[in-house]
Amino acid sequence: MGNPFEKGIGIGCELVDRENRHLNYLRISITDRCNLRCLYCVPEGRIPKLPHGDILSYEEILRLVHIGIGLGIRKVRVTGGEPLVRKGVIDFLAQLTRIRELEDVSLTTNGVLLAPNAQRIFDAGIRRINISLDSLDAVKYAQITGYDQFKQVWTGIERALEIGFMPIKINVVAMRGINDDEILDFGRLSLNHPFHIRFIEYMPIGNSRTSSRDQILTPEIQARIATIGELIPVSNGHNDGPARRFCLKGAQGEVGFISALSQHFCSHCNRLRLTADGKLRACLLSDHHAPLRELLRSGGSDGQLAEIFRIVVQQKAAKHRLCPDGMTTVKDQMQGIGG
Ligand code: SAM
Repeated sequence: MGNPFEKGIGIGCELVDRENRHLNYLRISITDRCNLRCLYCVPEGRIPKLPHGDILSYEEILRLVHIGIGLGIRKVRVTGGEPLVRKGVIDFLAQLTRIRELEDVSLTTNGVLLAPNAQRIFDAGIRRINISLDSLDAVKYAQITGYDQFKQVWTGIERALEIGFMPIKINVVAMRGINDDEILDFGRLSLNHPFHIRFIEYMPIGNSRTSSRDQILTPEIQARIATIGELIPVSNGHNDGPARRFCLKGAQGEVGFISALSQHFCSHCNRLRLTADGKLRACLLSDHHAPLRELLRSGGSDGQLAEIFRIVVQQKAAKHRLCPDGMTTVKDQMQGIGG
């Protein structure tokens, strides 16, 4: 990100942590429910669901977004669980995109419900969309996610392309012996389509059915992709995340690598996370958080809620403590935090 002041995005940001990072990006998980059970995200057996009353209402989330904006938040991503399973999500997206101060509102989805909703999501003002897709093979997709939904997701991606979402990012968690034989296919997908393929390193978070032994780190993925063609670096725009971006020579799209483990990007992390049950987290990879819900529901003032934002920001660790040996894990589940 460089010096945020150069690009104007740090101006007015009160959320500056001890490392002088300007936290202007809020990722909001609107539900812990998901219509898939991905191997690397969900444990064996039943997962306890948050009681309905524990989940923040859209009005409560919007109030927190406005408080965040007053402190300098300029970018919001809606995630989950699976955001598209929550009733009313499209109206909620429209309310977010109407907020003048937000420079960017985006959505992360598994794409299962995208095809029938894509036009309404676009009409709600969303342009940037991330779709998680870990296999291009329907059988393997069902093995990874627990559901035979590849066709629905692919149709959703095609629909998003027709409608004009830009960019369409495809998130791939590459795992050894599971989908690593498709790394090149995903790379090739960027040749003839304007997709931004994002390879995300598996992170040991909560209980799942994969382990760090299955993890493939970026240097290996990148070396494999480089066998297809020359990888030309693409520079990041100010609304871009931590991905290191490249374009295969002659490609319409891009490939990018999100390397939480092999290459810490903590030094320029600008993110805060709001969980579906109203916890504010300063780091995906630390269970440290502050609850906002009780204060929100017991008549807390905007000033008091803002103070919690400031406190969480001051407690943001300089660096996360996960290492590739997988020894340190985060106890909370990813579907509750939102990725
Ligand atoms: N349901 C939505 C989806 O699938 O995109 C949004 C929530 S999901 C938790 C957000 C992202 O987190 C997905 O791209 C998913 O692949 C990623 N993810 C989940 N568990 C992960 C893990 N253990 N390591 C790395 N990425 C993970």
